Amino acid sequence: LTPSPVIPKSSAKSYACQRRTPLKHHNLLLTEALELLSENAELGENEGRSVAFRRAAAILKTLPQAVQRMEDLQGLPCLGDHSLRVIKEMLEYGSSQEVESTRHSEQYQALKALTGIFGVGVKTAERWFRGGLRCPSDVAKSEERLNSAQQAGVLYHEDLSQRVSRAEADAIGQIVERAVQEVLPGAQITLTGGFRRGKETGHDVDFLITHPEEGKEEGLMPKVIQWLETQGVLLYQKTTRNSYLESKDGPSRPPHNMDRFERCFSIFKLDRSTGEGGPLAQAPGGEVGGCEGRAPGSELEPQHCSTGWKAVRVDLVVSPYSQFGFALLGWTGSKLFERELRRWAGKEKNMSLSSHALYDNSQRRYLRASTEEEIFSHLGLEYIPPCDRNA
Ligand code: ATP
Ligand code: MN
Ligand code: MN
Repeated sequence: LTPSPVIPKSSAKSYACQRRTPLKHHNLLLTEALELLSENAELGENEGRSVAFRRAAAILKTLPQAVQRMEDLQGLPCLGDHSLRVIKEMLEYGSSQEVESTRHSEQYQALKALTGIFGVGVKTAERWFRGGLRCPSDVAKSEERLNSAQQAGVLYHEDLSQRVSRAEADAIGQIVERAVQEVLPGAQITLTGGFRRGKETGHDVDFLITHPEEGKEEGLMPKVIQWLETQGVLLYQKTTRNSYLESKDGPSRPPHNMDRFERCFSIFKLDRSTGEGGPLAQAPGGEVGGCEGRAPGSELEPQHCSTGWKAVRVDLVVSPYSQFGFALLGWTGSKLFERELRRWAGKEKNMSLSSHALYDNSQRRYLRASTEEEIFSHLGLEYIPPCDRNA
């Protein structure tokens, strides 16, 4: 009998925002199982259950080694009876019946496939499922009325279901940078979302745009979009304008969870020859002979370069400089980390945190901050860098 490795419990804080959660960890089999159950609960609109499984998965990601026996979990927070049951079964038999039957269920697979279409939420997917639709091609063949986001979602589904590489994200960053500098010199763009947390791939690319002179950023988004449109870069875009200042619950009320920045959900047409993410770069040592060194726009394209572009989901958000720290923190994620930050603020500090501001309900005033570090400090939390926010 080998003694069980001792897992230090000092890091076992119950809020994910109190802990460091790296991207790579030692319990992938268990966390994937729990996250699948979380996802299934989300698809069934059972939010409480979904969050409980996600929190359980998150605590396992912080452990310094693989869990081997139930005793290893002693003293850990966030593990409910249901999660413990699943973990126990997996440790004993290598898999969980509940997880496997969920994974293979028609409902889970269909709802996952349907919500995987850009513009399709759980409610729509449910309705389509009840109407007999199971996958994107069913939707394409059906008589269902699609809104413009869903039309784009179906049209570009194949590309959008592929992961976006870091190189592709950087190539898109260059395009956004160029667009922003054209319409507002001095504006700054920052890569946020999963890529800022160090992920190697993403389902989209997220950018935050601001300008050091407060007010200069107003009306920026439509100009950026217009510039991108004249360049033929956009396959789809939906811009929502800033509604923070004009909102009825105004600055005297604690800020809301959903932010109200000027933002744009879009689909970019990324030229494969510009990003290293395309076929050009996939060959180590330049094995893609036909493509290597070819000038962009060359007429004789080899077969595997035949699709000259890829559709990529891009989110753009414009923030006033005074809110930049909050916006950066709010758009870096992960979603669970954000959720835990807000829960910590509310429950432990009597504060309200949003992507715009931090309000202290006891002092009845906003707490100013220009950096993420200052916000953590206001919240009485140790600073967690983006790479350790992968809860
Ligand atoms: P992926 O690599 O799959 O894109 P991600 O962490 O970047 O992972 P996103 O869905 O792009 O996931 O979200 C990035 C961040 O933006 C998250 O922190 C999320 O909380 C925030 N976010 C996304 N949508 C909204 C929204 N409508 N309002 C406010 N914040 C949002
Ligand atoms: Mn993202
Ligand atoms: Mn996004």
